[in-house]
Amino acid sequence: MDKSIEIKNLTKRFGEVVAVDNQSLTVESGEFVALLGPSGCGKTTLLRCISGLEEPDEGEITIQGKKVFSHEEGLHASAGQRNVGMVFQSYALWPHMTVYDNVGFGLAQQKVPKDKIYARVDEVLSDLSMTGLGERYPFELSGGQQQRVALARLLSTMPPVFLMDEPLSNLDARLRLDMRSEIKRLHFDSGATTIYVTHDQTEALTMASRVAVMDEGRIQQIASPMEVYRRPANLFVAEFVGTPRINLLNAKVNQKSDHMVLEADDIRIAAPGSLSDSLDEVTIAVRAEDIHLQLEPNDEAIEFSVYAVLPSGPELIVHIRKNDTTLVVRETRQLDLKMDQPVWVEIDPQSINLYDPHSKDLLQPAE
Ligand code: ATP
Repeated sequence: MDKSIEIKNLTKRFGEVVAVDNQSLTVESGEFVALLGPSGCGKTTLLRCISGLEEPDEGEITIQGKKVFSHEEGLHASAGQRNVGMVFQSYALWPHMTVYDNVGFGLAQQKVPKDKIYARVDEVLSDLSMTGLGERYPFELSGGQQQRVALARLLSTMPPVFLMDEPLSNLDARLRLDMRSEIKRLHFDSGATTIYVTHDQTEALTMASRVAVMDEGRIQQIASPMEVYRRPANLFVAEFVGTPRINLLNAKVNQKSDHMVLEADDIRIAAPGSLSDSLDEVTIAVRAEDIHLQLEPNDEAIEFSVYAVLPSGPELIVHIRKNDTTLVVRETRQLDLKMDQPVWVEIDPQSINLYDPHSKDLLQPAE
């Protein structure tokens, strides 16, 4: 069954604001794609255009092989005609209806016989560990339970496509973690094509099969969570994704006879592979876990001093300084580090990414 979603050259403007700027995206049947980005980047608008709640200004949207929006053809199918299930940040439950009636609402709309509705609602409530709560009203439920009712309502009709907009952001941290795995499981069990909007990078990286990172109405990169984390396509993605933040160093490129050296103040790193001859400056990006601390001097290592140590359970986040350069390091050994003590740093050139400081794009090694 074709459950894909295809978006072509989609633009949505609000007055002068271009919320979605000529974007194209294909989500394959059964995929889980997260739209990730800061507030105002256009992710909710893109999702609302797909759902039919917002009418785009330009472009085309096809869901399950059926065109539901085409500016050129003057076509705009309503949300109800698109056969998609939606869950929002505000659970949007009917306050005057019981849990049973809320969950069975979609089935009642489809004129499914009452006994079948009850059987299906029972089944879904049981799947979501909510058996026994059917007679309650939304105000008699906790936030997490209300969110599960919203999910149950989505599941009861088994739509082939799920569209979710920050469904977990009103929950406390513990519940959010539990619900992440529940949603991942629901996606696996249902096989529904899922688009999930979030500004929470951990949510996107842990749940999605692909992550689309958005900024200023445009998808900056769409790739697997690992690719987005390890090979960010530009400096926006590099800085937005990952905690602690990625380390960025501006470096001059020094061309030696047989190799290139990157020099950022007193730090020197051999360039990973060769770079275009025309480059004289680069931005080095290195993740905190790719900086290796040593407690003894070593010819290859650069001396820093400990600026602050932030223990966080299984790891230490260590801020180290050398003159004006501060680096953030993730250290999994339980080292007893003191303020201002010297440490020596090694960075594996293969673990760094280099960016053009002007275009801010990832530099590919020259052939
Ligand atoms: P958030 O995480 O804060 O919800 P977002 O990434 O989902 O942000 P959108 O809500 O899609 O962003 O908004 C994108 C841009 O469009 C923003 O500049 C926003 O102010 C603007 N915008 C969204 N909806 C409207 C509207 N109904 N009227 C006017 N401007 C709007």
